[in-house]
Amino acid sequence: MNKRIVWPVAALLAAALAGCGAAGANGAAAGTGETAAAPTAAPETAGAPAGSLRWLDEYDAGRCYMVGWSEQDNAYAVAAAYDYAAAAVQPLCSLPGCAHDSPGCEAWRRITMGVGQVAADGGEVFFCYSSGGLLNSGDAAADAELAAWQAEHEGAPVAHIDVCRADGSGRRRLVEFPALEDSEAGTLQMWAADDRSLYVTVRLTNDPADSGDDTRALYAVDRRSGACTELAPNVDTPVFVSGRGLYLFEYELEGEGTADVRDKGVQVRRLDADTGAWSDGVHHENSWGPASPQGLSSGGCYLTAAGGGARSLLRADTMNGTLEVLDPDSGETLATVTGLPAAAEGTHVDWQCRELENWYAVQSFELPWGSSEGVERLFLAPRTGGAAQEVKLYQYVSARGADPIYLYDEWNGRLFCHAAYRETPATMLGKDGVPYATSDIEDIYALLPVESALAGADDYTYFTNWPGLAR
Ligand SMILES: [Zn+2]
Repeated sequence: MNKRIVWPVAALLAAALAGCGAAGANGAAAGTGETAAAPTAAPETAGAPAGSLRWLDEYDAGRCYMVGWSEQDNAYAVAAAYDYAAAAVQPLCSLPGCAHDSPGCEAWRRITMGVGQVAADGGEVFFCYSSGGLLNSGDAAADAELAAWQAEHEGAPVAHIDVCRADGSGRRRLVEFPALEDSEAGTLQMWAADDRSLYVTVRLTNDPADSGDDTRALYAVDRRSGACTELAPNVDTPVFVSGRGLYLFEYELEGEGTADVRDKGVQVRRLDADTGAWSDGVHHENSWGPASPQGLSSGGCYLTAAGGGARSLLRADTMNGTLEVLDPDSGETLATVTGLPAAAEGTHVDWQCRELENWYAVQSFELPWGSSEGVERLFLAPRTGGAAQEVKLYQYVSARGADPIYLYDEWNGRLFCHAAYRETPATMLGKDGVPYATSDIEDIYALLPVESALAGADDYTYFTNWPGLAR
């Protein structure tokens, strides 16, 4: 593995970071010609209490934020939200009487910029525009479109974060990075937030021929001024947050360099958001159940982090069907969930856990050895511990099996879920110009009371879609 540091990249990035505070303060997005006039100016937050870290995702206070294509003009995307109280998809626009059908709308975004990530926290919505995911994307048309956009807006930085209020007002550029050469430009990713800062990583490609040589630097970005502070020059991907700590997994492998490499254990590492200091959290030795002739373990006992809110360190024991919530620093067991599907010789079992407000949504995948037909089941497990309960509601049923619904978020006793697919016949033009029959598959999202999910009752409240949003 090449550990070479390419200095011009580092120097350029340092220069960018030194200047990024000023860029945020004077609304540098002026050059893009599409920014709302009034910045959400607020006093500097340096020195103010920052509160606990929150994991950043697109769910916040009863809304799921997203960016979709505009039906009216395919050069634009529309920022919108699934609003749970209204059970409707709403464009993020506060302009009175706006029809949300033209570039003057607060919700419209240039589509060529390719919003890489949307996240919300505390009544603000952040849009992360990333260079690394688009340039050299492998899609020549998309790359050409982006190149044309860059030519049109000469000097406009590609990687940046914009922010607006939850209603779409006060949109402004928070922080921007220069248009680094594409082989060096970094993918920008937002991970966590507190009352003062966003915590983001920038991935740098030091050697275009060796992605194993990429490095990722972690920065705190002031939510008001956009000023950046480097917390760690070279980090792995954060997996959850707790208190003032960002936590990462350091995997310990055995059999490295052989065909039989496996996870031996995990060292949890804590990065202090105030000081940038590292400390060791829980250390765990994995144990694995009997392996199939092909080498697939039936199950095991290992550490994992819950997706979604990502505030919990979990010890999954798929041999016994138990899930423990651990204190990430002391290793103390805070809660124990029982009754999840357990592995046995002859069957592989794996779980994926998502953290909701009061529950863990646990997807269990059960696969008999030698079979390619697995069984997927969904459980709700109380975060305070106790027996897991199966959710017997399905989004897709076929002769080959059934897929349970998928749970994303919980708000006021209701779950935001993927409830079904809707398939409608469609016609496409083939490369030879001859039309052929196919089908459009639409994702159906809905709200469902927690009690209904537990009872297997499908009394969904479906969302009213905003018609200007293409699928
Ligand atoms: Zn509008």
